[in-house]
Amino acid sequence: MHPMATVDIAIIGAGAAGLAAAIFAGEAAKPSGARRIVVLDGAKTIGAKILVSGGGRCNVTHDAVTATDYFGNRRIIKNVLSAFSVKDTIAWFASMGVALKREETGKLFPVTDKARTVLNALVERCREIGVTISPDHRVIKIDRLPDSDAGFVIHHSHGVLTANRVILATGGRSIPKSGSDGFGFTLARRLGHTVTSTVPALVPLVLGDAMFHQALSGLSQEVELNTMVKGECVDSRTGSLLWTHVGISGPVVMDASRFWCLAQEQGEPVEVCGNFFPGQNQEQVRPWLMEQAREHPRRSLGKILAQRLPQRFAESLIQHAGCESLTAIAQLPKKEREHLLSLLTKCPFPIVQDRGWNYAEVTAGGVPLEEVNFRTMESKLVPGFYLAGEILDCDGRIGGFNFQWAWATGRLAGQAVCRPQV
Ligand SMILES: Cc1cc2nc3c(=O)[nH]c(=O)nc-3n(C[C@H](O)[C@H](O)[C@H](O)COP(=O)(O)OP(=O)(O)OC[C@H]3O[C@@H](n4cnc5c(N)ncnc54)[C@H](O)[C@@H]3O)c2cc1C
Repeated sequence: MHPMATVDIAIIGAGAAGLAAAIFAGEAAKPSGARRIVVLDGAKTIGAKILVSGGGRCNVTHDAVTATDYFGNRRIIKNVLSAFSVKDTIAWFASMGVALKREETGKLFPVTDKARTVLNALVERCREIGVTISPDHRVIKIDRLPDSDAGFVIHHSHGVLTANRVILATGGRSIPKSGSDGFGFTLARRLGHTVTSTVPALVPLVLGDAMFHQALSGLSQEVELNTMVKGECVDSRTGSLLWTHVGISGPVVMDASRFWCLAQEQGEPVEVCGNFFPGQNQEQVRPWLMEQAREHPRRSLGKILAQRLPQRFAESLIQHAGCESLTAIAQLPKKEREHLLSLLTKCPFPIVQDRGWNYAEVTAGGVPLEEVNFRTMESKLVPGFYLAGEILDCDGRIGGFNFQWAWATGRLAGQAVCRPQV
């Protein structure tokens, strides 16, 4: 790009939101054909996150998306989502030659099972409609030209670009080496926006040595996770927990992690407990254990628990509780039985930290949704300046929801940016 170029629309960030915005802007501008649209990205090769997403298969969206799948201002999130439904996403990808398939979990993937299909289609559509993508162009500063309607001067790693309107789609802080290192928040702040505390979300958690996770590394099981902040339950969810060599992961842990990270950031006491009999409390599990003791008095504790739990886990938990796996169930003293029951239904996880930005799939926090017009994604503070994607204070749970947010906000911003300013 010419070091002093002038364009109509500059989009900063060629991730999911930036590419969607570029395509919708390019298509909206098509009739007049007059608009020059440029996407600047700091990375030498674009699309890193799309390529690693969904284990390399890109979980594009989910067949049932509602505001309750997200955290943030749900009234605004609902409005944004209603402007671009899952049906619209499916049709939009089909129009780019990408057929999606639904898996049992409700997640939608490209039929090729390759994230590359998704990235290629987005880039190809940009090329078809004349959008210029400029990789290796990291934006360092955005200045507003003095006259309020005059546009912006964008300073980047190869010079300066003047644009009438700007869409900021720089993502959050997760996987900083992909190019999304949080600098977009600084750019937004310098233009007058606020940024709420940002913490890793959808991130695995690290446990202290007192726990038995290492022995179970690789094992998955169904668990109910309850997160208590200042003694109050702020989140309760059931799903698959994966034990790892450093702690816990898997969908249920990833989804709950934002609450632990936020409380930690805010210095609030937080506790995450596992219930290995989802949906049942200690009082409800006790009768089952007592019945087992009556019916099979000589059967070992390990064998009894392994009827309802993975054997390796049962052995580890029994040891953790200070009991013996080979003890005949009828011989288990009441005190030990109650301690075991408490661990089975309300086991506190000794979380020492999250795995950090290199492992987080998304960012919780960002530019408050109240600072943008949800019909257009235009900033309420800076006319002609738009925001889309993960930079906004909205994070979805695992399952394709974060991409749906990127497509929806990208579409709103892309279409609006081409409308004449009022
Ligand atoms: C391992 C992993 C797996 C995931 N899997 C899924 C999944 O299957 N489904 C799902 O819905 N979500 C998934 N996500 C989340 C999803 O990838 C993100 O929510 C989504 O990519 C956000 O899109 P975005 O365009 O807002 O930001 P990003 O994709 O982060 O793109 C931002 C772009 O801006 C560029 N940029 C940043 N700063 C500057 C600057 N100063 N100047 C120029 N360019 C800049 C970056 O280089 C980057 O290309 C996953 C995330 C990770 C990390």
